[in-house]
Order: sequence, then structure tokens, then C-alpha cells
Amino acid sequence: MIRFRHGEATDVGQVRQVNEDGFLAADPLFAVADGMGGHRAGEVASATALDVLRSSDIDSSADALMAAVEEANLTVFRRAADEPELYGMGTTLCAIGPVAADGIERIGIVNVGDSRVYLWNDGILSQITEDHSLVEAMVRGGQLTAEEAASHPRRNVVTRALGIEPVVDVDCWALTPAPGDRLLLCSDGLFGEVSDDTISGVLGNESDPMAVAEQLVRLANEAGGRDNITVVVVDPEVVQGDTHDAVAPVTDRVERLSVPSDDLLRIGESLEPPPPPRSPYLPPAGSIDSDPTVPLPVVESPPLPAAVSASSASPAPPVQAAPAPPVQAEPARQRRLTWRVVLFILAVLVVLAVAVGAVVLSSKSDDPGVAPGGTSSTITTATTPG
Ligand code: MN
Repeated sequence: MIRFRHGEATDVGQVRQVNEDGFLAADPLFAVADGMGGHRAGEVASATALDVLRSSDIDSSADALMAAVEEANLTVFRRAADEPELYGMGTTLCAIGPVAADGIERIGIVNVGDSRVYLWNDGILSQITEDHSLVEAMVRGGQLTAEEAASHPRRNVVTRALGIEPVVDVDCWALTPAPGDRLLLCSDGLFGEVSDDTISGVLGNESDPMAVAEQLVRLANEAGGRDNITVVVVDPEVVQGDTHDAVAPVTDRVERLSVPSDDLLRIGESLEPPPPPRSPYLPPAGSIDSDPTVPLPVVESPPLPAAVSASSASPAPPVQAAPAPPVQAEPARQRRLTWRVVLFILAVLVVLAVAVGAVVLSSKSDDPGVAPGGTSSTITTATTPG
């Protein structure tokens, strides 16, 4: 069994009120989760996923590691469905743990979302995981450069997360560890603020993993700290073989175990930001129908999740007599009708304009300077020479 030295740190950052990130350091299992959702739902989502991972029996197999992430997804999904105040919550999750096959011990790496696992060795920082994010899809599709993606206004939109659907695709790799390896797990609050070069420098200059984690969080805060920041540093204690042997390049030591999903490419082609939206402040889907310009029937408030209906300040207990669907259908139909009326008026105006224009033209064409355009003008030009 591979042993690990590790250090971890998390911080709310300089802007946010709540830290929705979380980490798991349960040697030999390590993870980072970045939750999203209104109010405190994101915090619940990341904590729920990490709890499932902590209590699952991973048993040193990559399949079990992936199954634990799938189980975490289903658990977050069910809580979001069952508890109205958690409606729409989700979380990223990246994790590492030992996996063994045919007597060879490796480190399994799993990922859903845009938290990252990096491998650092001898001054070289390599990102192992792929971000499931809109900007990553656009980079792959050739619409953005990596530099543009790093500062893109929608760089925090994820294309995959735990808790959004009952089933999720989990990416998985296995790393054959080598002397000098350091693994870094982090949320986007780190790499969104601190450059790869700076991260690599800290990993190379400080040997204590706890000091590394704290220093990276401090640097992210000093750079702005616009998001929650979470860092887990893990040093596998590899049995020292012949240390004079050159360590094989990362690409030769990392094997992809999961089938790549094509969602990144698919999204890159369509450029459509898919659900779920990353913003914790986006209203739940149901509330989009409540257009303030459309008069709503005063019967009852629409059946929205508690997070929204609580803020709509209705002190009376909700009346559940009338069936829900007609309430939302009504404004939609009214809006369609309104549009038809507007279109009809526009059509009438166009016809009127054409008629008026025709009258004006025919009266102007009495003037000989106007070029002949129609039958009436040919008649008039025929009469002018006399
Ligand atoms: Mn984040």
C-alpha cells in the first residue's frame, strides 16, 4: 500500500460570504469539492459528496473509486430533489486514491467538473484532469486560446457536475507514481488567481505539504481571492528504487481508464451553455416564467422551490387547492396572445403604409421629372408632350 504525506487548506476568499468548497483528507483517500447552489446549498452539496466518498469502501480498485463518485452523485441528486431549499444544488469533485491491479500499485484519479488534479515532478507541473467547463470546450473547439479562457467572463460555467442528473460520467486515470511526485488537488479559486509557474515554484521550494497548501491559499487571496480556495497537497511515499534512473515522462505514467465522453466537443461545437448554470444566483427554472410585465392571476403563488417562495414574502400558508400547471400555463398563453395582437397591428400598419406610399407616389408621378414606374405613370407621361 502506497503511503502518503499530505497537507490541506481551504478559505472563503476575499469576496464570497460562504465557503462552498470542501476537502477530504482521509489517508489514503483525498478529494476536493466545489459546491454550487443558492443560499447555503452549495456547501451542502460539496459536504454531501465528500461524506459519501469518506464512508465508501473503495478497496483499492479504480472501479470502486468511480462507483463511489457515482454514488456521491446520486446522493446529492436525491437530496436536491427531496429538500426544496437545496433545489438545483451541485458540486464538482476530484479525488485520488490507491488502486491496484495485477499486483501493481498505482494512484487512481477521478474527476467531475472543473476542480483539478495536477502532478508535479522536478519542476514540471502537469494537469492530469480535464475541466468539464464551457471555456475548456471552446478551447478544444478552437474558439478560444488557453489564455483567453483563463480570463473569460464565463470561465466558471461547468458542463458536468454531481447532483444535476441521476447518472454522471466520471473521468478516471491511473498514475504510476515515481520518486519526487507531488499531487495537487484544488478548486478553481486557486488556478483562477495563481499562475501555473507560481504554483510550480511553491511546490518546488517548500517540502512540507501543509506549508505548501497554506502558502498557495495565501497567494490566491493576495491575488484577489474572488472565489473560495481549496488546496490539497499529497506526496506519495514511493519505495525508493534506483533513484538515479530518470523518471519517465508523465504521459508515459498516466493511463486513462474511462472512456472519454464527447460532451466537451459537443458543447464546443454548439457553443450553447448547457445546464447546469454555475451561478448560484440564477433563479430556478420554474421562476423564469414569472415575467413581471404579464399580469399574473392572483389565485396563489406559483409552485416554486422554497428558496424562491420564501423570498416572495407570502405570510399566509400556501393554498394547495388549485392544480399547479394552469397557473404557469396562463401567463404563457396570455403572452402568446399579446404577441399575436402586436403582430396583427404591425401587419395592418405595413399595409396602410404601403397604401399611403402608393398614393403619394402616384400623385408625385404627375411631375415629369419622375421616372416612369407603373401603368399610371406611363399614362401621364404619354399625356405630357402635348
Ligand atoms: Mn469555485
